[in-house]
Amino acid sequence: MIYTGHGNREIVERIMPVSEARKRIRGLKKVDVTGRCARECIDIAYGFFTPLQGFMGREDVDAVCEKMTLKDGTLWSIPIVLDVEGEEVKEKGIKEDDTILLTFSGKPLAILEVEDIFGYEKAKMAEAVLGATDERHPGVRMINKLKDTFIGGKVTLVNPPEFQPPFDKFWYTPKDLREKIAERGWKRVVAHQTRNVPHTGHEWLMKGAWFSANGDLPVEKLQTGILVNCIIGPKREGDYIDEAIVLCHDELRNSGYFREDIHLVSISLWDMRYAGPKEAIFHAILRENLGCTHHMFGRDHAGVGSFYDPYDAHRIFDEIPEGSLNIKPIRVLEWWYCPVCGEVTYSGLCGHKEKRQKFSGTLIRSMLQDRVKPTKLIFRPEVYDKVMECAKKYGFGSPFCTKRYLAERGPVFVLSDM
Ligand SMILES: [Zn+2]
Repeated sequence: MIYTGHGNREIVERIMPVSEARKRIRGLKKVDVTGRCARECIDIAYGFFTPLQGFMGREDVDAVCEKMTLKDGTLWSIPIVLDVEGEEVKEKGIKEDDTILLTFSGKPLAILEVEDIFGYEKAKMAEAVLGATDERHPGVRMINKLKDTFIGGKVTLVNPPEFQPPFDKFWYTPKDLREKIAERGWKRVVAHQTRNVPHTGHEWLMKGAWFSANGDLPVEKLQTGILVNCIIGPKREGDYIDEAIVLCHDELRNSGYFREDIHLVSISLWDMRYAGPKEAIFHAILRENLGCTHHMFGRDHAGVGSFYDPYDAHRIFDEIPEGSLNIKPIRVLEWWYCPVCGEVTYSGLCGHKEKRQKFSGTLIRSMLQDRVKPTKLIFRPEVYDKVMECAKKYGFGSPFCTKRYLAERGPVFVLSDM
């Protein structure tokens, strides 16, 4: 079966059978990569970044920064680069047309056919992608920390990652997901991006997007699904622990807040750039590759601080050429609790704006921290129980990342020695 992804290109899959790979990697020059590059290698190889077949060369990076496209004109908003120390490149004598072995924590991961070795002006990249060069922006800090030399070229995975519980049952490659979607008979799939344990505000974001996508389909059999795609990447102290994010979303379906036949939870490896509108475009591309037809965008999607207007990530979809994306943005305003309406309602509907009670992530977090069960109108009791179970089982007692969790947590995936 051929599956089509972003840019109307076939979903990329670049994986070498292990028996062949063992021979192929012998004697290759090795470069040990950062966690982000390792995650992105895996993404490239399984087609999450279709049509990319490897890390970008200079022409692609230039095109992304200057025109928000790849060099061939395909819409693309965030550079995907392998950064190394120029010193290391020189020492190891790595040059164009070499094939090198990328390792992660010393274990073989992928081979890379070197096409381009180049330096890049970081401030130019930050300004183009993030619209900022201020170090208070985490995406700027990330770019400034990149090593001084980029290596572009095709990547082939030689050692598939083994996802560890509880993540293993949420790991689906783009091809796996297409099969799942076909099995379920979904004609439309709404992507919900998350890095949070869901409160009912999130639940309503998903429900609203589902109504919007499903509206004109026949009523005999539901043919619209929700794909909750949890972003797994680097964590900071105070973030929800990854295990709680995936398991609590899964709990919403297990407890019947979403029907079994319209809801699925999966993970994607991605280091957030907090690029606001440009990251919204990237998320749309990623979910297009997962087989989604619609993507929910809420307030301040992928934003940080006050770097972007809360609805910049909505507006950018009006600025891209028609036909450059095969996924439809569903632009959602805010859900809140209204005591007059006596329910969770929507800013586009409720006329009691001055009485509204916003969902406060901060308040809910402090309640969870203090083991106070929030009312079920704003937080489902089954989700609360699951958060507490995760805190005990994975979080050393806390549902939030602590120093101890960051140092001692179980890995999301491991690589074998080969
Ligand atoms: Zn109201």
